[in-house]
Amino acid sequence: MLDLSTKIEEVARIGTAYQKKLKKFGIKTVQDLLFYFPSRYDDFSDIIPIKKVKVGYTVCVQGKILQIESTRTFKKFMNITEIIVEDETGAIKALWFNQPYLAKTLKEDDFICLAGKVSLGKDGMYLNNPAYERISEAVENQNLTHTGRIVPVYAETRGLTSRWLRFIIKPLLVNFYHKIPEILPEEILKKYKFLPIKKAIWQAHFPDSFDYADAAKSRFSFEELFLLQLSVLKEKAKLIQNKAPACLMNTALMKEFTKSLSFELTDSQKQCSWQILKDLEKITPMSRLLEGDVGSGKTVVATMAALNTAKCGYQVAFMAPTEILANQHFKEVTRLLESFNVRIGFLTAKEGRIFKDKETYKTSKQSLLEDLKNGQIDILIGTHSLIQKGVDFKNLALVIVDEQHRFGVEQRKNLTHNNALFAHLLSMTATPIPRTLALTIYGDLDLSLIKEMPKNRKKVKTLIVEPKDRSSAYEFIRKEAQEGKGIFVICPKIEARDKKQGTKDKEGMYGSFVPKNYNLGSLVLQDVKAVKEEYEKLSNEVFPDLRITMLHGKMKSSEKEKIMQDFKKGEVDILVSTSVVEVGVDIPRATVMMIEGAERFGLAQLHQFRGRVGRSDAQSYCFLFTTSPDHLNRKRLKALVASNSGFELAQKDLEIRGPGQVYGTQQWGLPDIAMQGLSNIFLVEKTRAAAKELLEKDPGLKMYPLLKERLKNFEQRIHFE
Ligand code: ADP
Ligand code: MG
Repeated sequence: MLDLSTKIEEVARIGTAYQKKLKKFGIKTVQDLLFYFPSRYDDFSDIIPIKKVKVGYTVCVQGKILQIESTRTFKKFMNITEIIVEDETGAIKALWFNQPYLAKTLKEDDFICLAGKVSLGKDGMYLNNPAYERISEAVENQNLTHTGRIVPVYAETRGLTSRWLRFIIKPLLVNFYHKIPEILPEEILKKYKFLPIKKAIWQAHFPDSFDYADAAKSRFSFEELFLLQLSVLKEKAKLIQNKAPACLMNTALMKEFTKSLSFELTDSQKQCSWQILKDLEKITPMSRLLEGDVGSGKTVVATMAALNTAKCGYQVAFMAPTEILANQHFKEVTRLLESFNVRIGFLTAKEGRIFKDKETYKTSKQSLLEDLKNGQIDILIGTHSLIQKGVDFKNLALVIVDEQHRFGVEQRKNLTHNNALFAHLLSMTATPIPRTLALTIYGDLDLSLIKEMPKNRKKVKTLIVEPKDRSSAYEFIRKEAQEGKGIFVICPKIEARDKKQGTKDKEGMYGSFVPKNYNLGSLVLQDVKAVKEEYEKLSNEVFPDLRITMLHGKMKSSEKEKIMQDFKKGEVDILVSTSVVEVGVDIPRATVMMIEGAERFGLAQLHQFRGRVGRSDAQSYCFLFTTSPDHLNRKRLKALVASNSGFELAQKDLEIRGPGQVYGTQQWGLPDIAMQGLSNIFLVEKTRAAAKELLEKDPGLKMYPLLKERLKNFEQRIHFE
């Protein structure tokens, strides 16, 4: 017996080539296919008499085929199929290009329904490439699929057309729709007046009206987000059953620390550290997100938590997304804690270091790991290598992660696998995100906000630089450099657009570079190539008088580290780099951030770049070089010029690019309908409240076995990053 879990291989009309294509979309079963929703609809519902057809309109007509003809044009390879269709009111021609098989499928005297755009040719009106469907006779109320109704249009990729999907999905709907179980609880269906599942699934694919299509859509976007919320909340419920080590707040120590700083903490910083230190006193594991714009001073807050934890006799893990940042955190934390007698380790894939008695030593990774296990290290700073096998803490109590979109319970468990106790988590981000959304996509964290910037900050002046102004921008840069200021130049990645054409850059900026054959890995190389070319151009042609160096991801970390230090010390004027300097690097003497191909970066990312300058009391500048006339690109760059607030920019980014791009959720494998739902904050809130209510009543979902099953299925399909 076939059921919803039937594999697509067993569905009659799906051949092996199509099976492969479907699997690329994650479609493996009948159920997956039925839940593969259209991204939009074409309205062909109004069938009109041929006499009423007008040029420029999209219309739907039906009638009998009078004549059919297939020809080759003099321009070779072009096949044209032409038919004439007649109803009681008139006749019209329809044309298709390069679909020779049509002449074989359609015959004279067949009845046909056509839908498409009306064009004007030499000898009158014709339907250009219309959707078509054979019908039994020109009578009303036929059960149509591709024409004569509101027709679903699916997200298409090579070889998977909407026509084919309709052809496959419709019979499956007929055969299976009554087997689709209702998973939403009765109360929810009632409360929100949702269509019941069977009706909703029909109406999602073949709606009777646009109202029905909308109703189906709101039900399914609710459903997907509801599942996401259930999953997040259940994870949290599981988490808080664990016990964490309680570290009492050492008020005297914290006072001593703040006194040791060369500045005063902002009110926000004080509030946030208080919230964190209070959480650490509990035996329930903390899960807290510290959110603050670039340069708002999150590291100091995190360092206070680390110090307090270390002095309680526990260990701290501090993770950064890149080696450069890990390095910088290590430098910053060792500097801040210099006189507090804590032992700080540094670990990346390549090296180990240790800081104790006010000195930093190189050490083998092995001996570092040994020390860690014996409790000889209080704070371990590093990259992802911290969650690898072989890294065993003696008594880890606090994990600090910087700019990782999501740090799952599993990863957290990996860190503490040796211990009975579970570590507290402090996650930091400069991406401003509305609260409910944060709760949803960061995995239900409590939120601490740094709302204000340190007082000594000056606004960075931001300008869009047109090609004609390039040389005056260069002159300006030369002057800054001559005054001893540091200049960043960021180069965008060259995107490989087409294998055959290589990577021909639209603006021709790096057009000379054509890789033989590219794969994802070589994108990094293209990155490097862009930097090398820019570096050569600047040092040979533009600024032969200045000291220029380059930085990219393919360099050894010791090399990168040395370059950053030289730049920081003022031994380099201009640093040409890939986006590796993106987050968090602190070079106070840098006053100019120059970004090539600025339109290729997201707003949040550009804001991050800009945050690299303006870290002293000198006036700083951000130059956005662009040659793109594209309206949306312009709009984004103008938004950056107009606003210095990360929160405002993120909001704009969200509107322009959608939440998947902005928050990195596109890698999770969430269905489109859920992704769209994430940009609707009311829906996010509604689903969260509903999920919470249900779990309070029935934490194990015992009363809802079908929902539980679906949730399991859902969790297998998404993979939080
Ligand atoms: P981010 O939030 O981007 O991680 P950082 O923690 O790197 O910001 O801080 C940026 C710089 O500002 C650092 O050099 C830090 O020492 C300094 N800083 C932090 N807090 C303050 C403050 N309250 N007043 C002045 N400078 C501060
Ligand atoms: Mg930072």
